[in-house]
Order: sequence, then C-alpha cells, then structure tokens
Amino acid sequence: MNGKSLCLACCLAGILVSSCASKQKTSQLVQPAKWWEVHPRPVYASLEKVGTFQAWFDVYKLAEGTFAIYEPNQFEEAISYLVVGRERGVIIDTGTGIGDLKQVVSQLTDLPVSALLTHEHYDHVAGAYRFDKIIMYDDKDALQLLKAGRDNASLQRYITKDYMWKPLPEGFDAASWTIPSMEPTTLVHDGDVIDLGGRTLEVIYTPGHSPGSMCLLDRTHRLLFTGDHFFPGPLYAHPADVNIDDYIASNQKLCERIDEYDYLCSGHNDPWVKSEVIPRVSEAFETIFAGKGDYSEEGGLRRYYFEGFDILIRTEMVVP
Ligand SMILES: [Zn+2]
Repeated sequence: MNGKSLCLACCLAGILVSSCASKQKTSQLVQPAKWWEVHPRPVYASLEKVGTFQAWFDVYKLAEGTFAIYEPNQFEEAISYLVVGRERGVIIDTGTGIGDLKQVVSQLTDLPVSALLTHEHYDHVAGAYRFDKIIMYDDKDALQLLKAGRDNASLQRYITKDYMWKPLPEGFDAASWTIPSMEPTTLVHDGDVIDLGGRTLEVIYTPGHSPGSMCLLDRTHRLLFTGDHFFPGPLYAHPADVNIDDYIASNQKLCERIDEYDYLCSGHNDPWVKSEVIPRVSEAFETIFAGKGDYSEEGGLRRYYFEGFDILIRTEMVVP
C-alpha cells in the first residue's frame, strides 16, 4: 500500500515503528518495500502541471492562486500548498526541508508569504525556517516540539534507501541537514480567519493526529486543507501522540461542515481528493471498533483497508 506520512509521530510510536535512534526497520505495514511502485499516482494526470523545480518539487495549479508543491521522490510524498490572495499568501506546510521551498514560492508569487503549519511533525515544518513569519495553532506540546527542532542524526533515517527512490537534489547537504529551533510569530485558534486579501482561510481545530493539528477552510474555492488529519494512504491512529477519541471527534466536526467544501488538499500523496471520503472515515472507525473490517496484522499493529484510505492502529487499542 502506498500512502504514508512517516511523521515525527512514528518516532514516538514505541513498539512497531522504529525509533529514530534504533536500527529496527519500519514495519512493512507502515512502509512497504518498493513503495514507489505506485508512481505516477493517477490523480496527477488530471491536474495542471506548472513544472518541476530543483529536480525535487513537482508543482500543480489547483485553482486560481492555489498551488500544490509535491515532493514525490521521498517516502513521505509531502505536499505543501501555496495559497495566494490579493495582498499576501501562505504556504500551508513546508515539507521535508530537503529542497528549497522558499525559492519555489518566490518563483510562483511576488507577494509576501508566511508559513502556515497544520501541525508540528517534521515533514510539515522542516522548511518553515526559510520564511520570515510562521503561523501555528496555539498548543503547548506542538510549540515545544517546534522549538526543540531536530538534529542531523535524528533525520538521517529519512534519506536512507528505504525512503528514497530518486537522487537528492543538488545543493542539499545531508551532513548538515537539521530542523532549526523555531517559534511561531502568530498563534491561531479555532474559528480564526486568516485574511489574504479578497480570500480567507478559516482555522478548524482538528486534534487527534497530533495535539495541535488543524485544517484550513477556503470557502471561496470550497477547499479543505487537511494536513495529516486525512490523506489518501494509511491514516495514523497508532503513534503515541495520537488521541483516538479526539481524532474521531475532529472527523465528526468536519462531517458537520461538509457542505462547505468539495475537495480535500491533503498533506501527502494526492492533493485533490473528493470530500465524500470524510464521512467514510467516521464509518471506518465505527467498523474497526465494532470488531469488523479487513486488516493485516504484524507485531501488534493492524492495517485496516478501506476504499481510498487505510487506518493503522495498535491491536491493543481494538482488542483489550
Ligand atoms: Zn503528521
């Protein structure tokens, strides 16, 4: 199976996903061998490609002033989104930090652009230090992680041969790759509206995947930027920093607002997913906790299979 998001969360997962310091391999349920065989993902053929930058980022135009900046060559398949209004823009998430995201952004707009982080995991925040302003949800755990940064040793596993299927970009120095300590310049809360000039993004607080996770709603284009709350791949319900009750409640919150968006712009794999999947995520959790559903199991981890996404969960969470 193809999807993923090997977030910092994995490093906290304990039993099944190898810790950053360990030499244990990541579970096949999380990271199948030859995960790159799913490429090219079919959705991209239907999108307007702007170009490839630094031999690392593929950029697609999704709507007026709305670009998906995709990193297809590394396992996370991180997607950052440039959203531009009349006066300013934001880059929603900032990827792995391997390429120079700011340079790409500067080629797409002349307006000032702030980093807007959906949550604190490494594959969403690593490029944020390149931007003068950082916007993040006001959550103390998330802020702590952002402030801690990541040292070079803890990041090395993300560029091993298991994670990569294309060369690293020119100019990237693996030996000095870190995530610097960062502090947001603006903290946001549920219901806050970020004004880009003639276009707004509403903050919808959706904890669960991580304590400080949020989605962003663009009413003008009827888009929901979901971060890792949803992406078409294996949704992470197993790491230590996941709160499953919050996750389910947050999905219910998105279900109640489904009339306001048509497409999901997710943090990994595909940038353009029909919104009808959101109610099915709630149904999927109900299926799992009713003791039903198809799954594979390995070492205390289950991967449940649904149409368009999977759910990774610890067996002990399902079978007490
Ligand atoms: Zn994440």
